[in-house]
Amino acid sequence: MQKLVLASNNAGKVKEFQALLAPLNFQVIPQGELGIPSAEEPHHTFVENALAKARHASAASGLPALADDSGICAHALNGQPGVMSARFAGDQGNDVANNQKLIQELKGQTDRGAHYVCALVLVNSENDPEPLIVQTRWYGQIVDQPSGKNGFGYDPYFFLSEQQCTAAQLEPAQKNLISHRGQALRELMAQLKSRA
Ligand code: IMP
Repeated sequence: MQKLVLASNNAGKVKEFQALLAPLNFQVIPQGELGIPSAEEPHHTFVENALAKARHASAASGLPALADDSGICAHALNGQPGVMSARFAGDQGNDVANNQKLIQELKGQTDRGAHYVCALVLVNSENDPEPLIVQTRWYGQIVDQPSGKNGFGYDPYFFLSEQQCTAAQLEPAQKNLISHRGQALRELMAQLKSRA
């Protein structure tokens, strides 16, 4: 099995990536297990931040590394909070405050459209000249009242017209089938298979 460092310590993401990459013969190791601290995310794009995280993990471990960067973009706010999604209402990253701020900023706006973005990057080494990069979107509407207890972040306010519920009302497996992260993983795996 080939070792792959994951530039995240989020338990949910670690499990998801481990399950999906095991059949491709990758052993996914969270960077925290190797004592690697989180990288800075100073960039204006999801792709640049994901690339920075992957390079950082690969440089520190000497192994191939996988990183993702994600967030939500509200159309009436010119794509905000975007790469600032985790820290929209302050550096401590509080979901309740982030959602309150989003609802406040959308007050009076008729366009409630939004999309989640996920950028996924895989590098073989710190200076890999050909990183694998995928970026995907998941569309919905921001509603004023939260519904549902699953998911995290902005999910209780992210309404899906096709399913007629919020992302927080989906079962985790259902969410993975359609979410930005699920789409990105499947696309990355297809690229990995076609490279092999
Ligand atoms: P990160 O990519 O784990 O750093 O996530 C960035 C931020 O975007 C999270 O803290 C959430 O606020 C938001 N976000 C990203 N993906 C999701 C999702 O699937 N549901 C809800 N919020 C999300």
